[in-house]
Amino acid sequence: MSVERLTLGVQKKGRLADGGFELLKRAGVKLAYGRDQLLRRAENLPLDLMLIRDDDIPSFVATGACDYGIVGENVLHEAKHRSARLSGLEVVLKLGFARCRLKLAAAKDGNIRTIDDLNGRTVATSYPGLTQAYLRERGVEAEMVEMGGSVEVAPKVGVADAICDLVSTGATLEANGLFAFETVFESEAVLIRRSERAEDPVEDTAQLLVQRFEGVIASRQTKYILLNAPTDRIEEVRAVLPGTDAPTVAPVVGREDVVAVHAVCTEEVFWSTLERLKAVGARSILVMPIEKMMA
Ligand code: ATP
Ligand code: ZN
Repeated sequence: MSVERLTLGVQKKGRLADGGFELLKRAGVKLAYGRDQLLRRAENLPLDLMLIRDDDIPSFVATGACDYGIVGENVLHEAKHRSARLSGLEVVLKLGFARCRLKLAAAKDGNIRTIDDLNGRTVATSYPGLTQAYLRERGVEAEMVEMGGSVEVAPKVGVADAICDLVSTGATLEANGLFAFETVFESEAVLIRRSERAEDPVEDTAQLLVQRFEGVIASRQTKYILLNAPTDRIEEVRAVLPGTDAPTVAPVVGREDVVAVHAVCTEEVFWSTLERLKAVGARSILVMPIEKMMA
């Protein structure tokens, strides 16, 4: 019996593509070489990637052209505001990359300082649905000027009074003499699918993929710590280790006064953590990345 292949919509090129391909690689997906511009076949799983623009991913998933998709929450929510047909999409998993914020911004030397100043004004944005809804909920009526890109130039050239655009570092705003005064939406990449899935022939593959993605996400933060500690200070060392419940304590050959401690830390390990470990007597401290995890 042939297994039904799962089609996953992924951005063809851009920030989501970079993070998405990295995630798939770490999840053990091996892509076959192919000339097809639209479909890339996985050689070790019943999975095909459909390479499209990120803005098209919600409708491709909603119509069933793709079973699942990787898209920014910003694009997903904007799509839901625009079309009732897309309201049946759900987030299966947050993927922890392509983090950004949708922010309202205006000229530093202008007279817009808060969202109330936007009443009766124009706002240039690629996200009119999200922006309008946010402002209306707060009793502000502004006119949306939809732009496909280069939104940051709008105030300078007189296209709009303010903008609502994606920001990560703020360098683009700065370079254009703008300042952000309100965050409308916080976004990251998510895995989506239709919420109504009657009989799902790709269920098994989907579950396997989700489990592997979860493993990759968990292992990004998680570290493996190895150290030697004075036998009588084990409890103090343990108290300093971030996010571990049961470290392994093993004897060190030829040393009664020292034990080896191995622990999986689910929280970030900072330099200050190492300094605190050293202060309570730990030595030969090693912090290692974890490549794969499964509970
Ligand atoms: P296309 O429409 O051709 O697929 P795009 O220009 O929309 O490409 P990107 O600029 O790669 O594509 O943005 C894709 C997504 O990445 C955005 O919708 C958003 O979720 C996220 N993103 C955008 N800007 C940033 C940023 N500065 N930092 C991190 N993530 C971002
Ligand atoms: Zn796009």
